[in-house]
Amino acid sequence: MSKAVDLNNLPYPDGDFYAFEQLLSSAERERLLTIREWLAKEVRPIAVDCWNRAEFPMDIIPKLAELDIMSPVRRQGYSNVFAGLVHAEFTRADASLATFMGVHDGLFAGSIEALGSEEQKAQWLPDIYALRKIGAFGLTEPLGGSDVAGGTRTTAQRDGDNWILNGAKRWIGNATFSDWVVIYARDVADNQVKAFLVDTATEGYAATKIENKISLRTVQNADITLTNVMVPHDFKLAGGNSFRDTNKVLKVTRLGVAWQAVGLQMAAFDVARRYAVERQQFGRPLASFQLVQDQLVQILGNTVSSMGMMVRLAQLEDEGVAKDEQSTLAKAFTTARMRESVALGRSILGGNGIVTDYEIAKIFSDAEAIYSYEGTHEINTLVTGRAITGVSAFL
Ligand SMILES: Cc1cc2nc3c(=O)[nH]c(=O)nc-3n(C[C@H](O)[C@H](O)[C@H](O)COP(=O)(O)OP(=O)(O)OC[C@H]3O[C@@H](n4cnc5c(N)ncnc54)[C@H](O)[C@@H]3O)c2cc1C
Repeated sequence: MSKAVDLNNLPYPDGDFYAFEQLLSSAERERLLTIREWLAKEVRPIAVDCWNRAEFPMDIIPKLAELDIMSPVRRQGYSNVFAGLVHAEFTRADASLATFMGVHDGLFAGSIEALGSEEQKAQWLPDIYALRKIGAFGLTEPLGGSDVAGGTRTTAQRDGDNWILNGAKRWIGNATFSDWVVIYARDVADNQVKAFLVDTATEGYAATKIENKISLRTVQNADITLTNVMVPHDFKLAGGNSFRDTNKVLKVTRLGVAWQAVGLQMAAFDVARRYAVERQQFGRPLASFQLVQDQLVQILGNTVSSMGMMVRLAQLEDEGVAKDEQSTLAKAFTTARMRESVALGRSILGGNGIVTDYEIAKIFSDAEAIYSYEGTHEINTLVTGRAITGVSAFL
């Protein structure tokens, strides 16, 4: 009979096997620890239930506001390594909550930070950082997904001091309850994609929840229709005048998604290792079988290689020299490793791996959306391929 293993006293507490966390300053490490404890207390206990019911826990919003975590790099002066490890930590606790943050803080606030005038930023960002106003990011359309750069069909027409928006958006996260949404629309005058802050109470705006998802079920994705929606010219983002400008936002948020792939692998490692140690078959823990150890080590190797790549990329971000194609490679590589890791984790739980009660089924399913959003695996691969060959395979 083998001895019970005390997981809390093993020398390697989680998937950060090479101790990347030690690269943080002591203040950053302390803050990360506080956030980890907050997630364990406020998020882990409710995450599976919210996912099963496909409901967003609205009461988490004031608690998130109290945590004061929005825009850690631009507003609070933390390093990109810290911001990445925090985003991974959110995902490790619940990929849906990390996605809420990725949309509100990354895509939505990020659009205003990158494309708003100083006046617009001063007017809107305080409410956004304090989560008094919740935001969404409307780029993808029913007929424009991977090709949305050239394929945006939603139109914007200048009408005196206003713009009139018409069209449809699909998959827009947070949009069933958000106060604002940044809508990207093609100006009929010059054919360029421009960005507008739309108040969701405006006449002609409608959002319908997308039902029956198998991934990130807690995230409220919506189909949006815009019928003669009037937006004051002051609400056109001053610096959002072409798809090249939109890309400034996506370059940063794509990194956030790659960090989600790190966090989800950490979660798979946490759950699968615990199960392998606790579950007995043939009178011994699963962890005593060589094939199971091999699977755990594969998850660990995937996690560490993804994390190493992301930490280095975050350092390049901190130096201000990271390139677009480095973030597309990171998104493609880490999400592919993530897909392998969550499948291995699910396999370690056998039949219990397909019910959400044991968490791994949720982790496994959430990987699918992360693999496809913010540029699919294929598109991120092709952008990287274009950079290393000088030849575009998709345009
Ligand atoms: C859960 C979730 C949340 C999302 N949140 C938001 C949001 O908040 N805001 C927003 O604007 N969008 C959001 N999206 C949309 C997301 O970014 C798109 O789903 C994604 O860009 C892919 O577009 P598509 O789904 O239309 O797939 P398509 O573009 O139709 O692609 C289908 C398949 O074809 C492949 N493909 C397409 N073109 C090529 C090519 N040239 N070469 C090789 N393969 C190709 C793709 O890789 C993919 O495998 C979200 C999506 C999901 C699933």
